[in-house]
Amino acid sequence: MWRFLIIEFQTHFSLMLEYEGLCFEESISAAKIEQEVTRVANEINADYAGREPLFVCVLNGAFMYASDLMKHISLPCEITFVRMKSYEGTETTGKVNMLIPLQVDVKDRDVIVIEDIVDTGITMHAFMNELREMGAKSVALTSFLYKPESLRYEDVKPQYYGLAIPPAFIIGYGLDLNEKARNLASIYTKV
Ligand code: 5GP
Repeated sequence: MWRFLIIEFQTHFSLMLEYEGLCFEESISAAKIEQEVTRVANEINADYAGREPLFVCVLNGAFMYASDLMKHISLPCEITFVRMKSYEGTETTGKVNMLIPLQVDVKDRDVIVIEDIVDTGITMHAFMNELREMGAKSVALTSFLYKPESLRYEDVKPQYYGLAIPPAFIIGYGLDLNEKARNLASIYTKV
C-alpha cells in the first residue's frame, strides 16, 4: 500500500508518497506530462509527414506513454509491442532480457521505438541495433524521459523526448517499483 502526504516547506507545498518504506516526491504533474506528450507527437507528425511509420512500444513501462502519444499521432501508422526487462527494484542489472520478442517484419519500414525512459541506454542500444540488422529502413527513438547524466551509449539519445531529468529513481506514469506504482498519473522521484 502507498500513503500520500502533503508536506509544507518554507517556499512550497509538496505531494509526497510513502511506498514500501521509500519516500517519493511528485516531480512531474499529470498536466505537465500531457503538455510534453502533445508537443512530442506534433514533432513526430511533422517529421514523418508522407510516411507510414511502425511504432514499437517497449513494455511494460512505456504502455502509458505509448497510449497517450498515439492519441495525438495523426499519421497513418501501425503499433506493435515487445517486452524487455533490465531493472530489479531501484537498480539496473546491466543485462537486458527479451521477454516478448518482436512479432512484425520491420524490413524496409520506418520504425519509431517508444520507451518510457532512457537511463544508461543499454536496453535501446541493443534493441535499435537489432532492428537495423533486421533491415529497418530507419530507426528512431522516442522516450518520454531520459537521464543525460546516466547515458553510456551516445547513439541512443532519443530524437524525440518529453523531459530530461537528473539520475534519480522515479516511479509512476508506467514506471514501476517491483511491478507496482505503474498506475500513478504523475511522476514521483525518490528522495
Ligand atoms: P537503460 O537500459 O537505459 O539503463 O534502462 C532502461 C529501462 O530501465 C527503462 O525502460 C525502465 O524500464 C528502467 N528504468 C530506468 N530508469 C528507471 C527509473 O528511474 N525508474 C524505473 N521505475 N525504471 C527505470
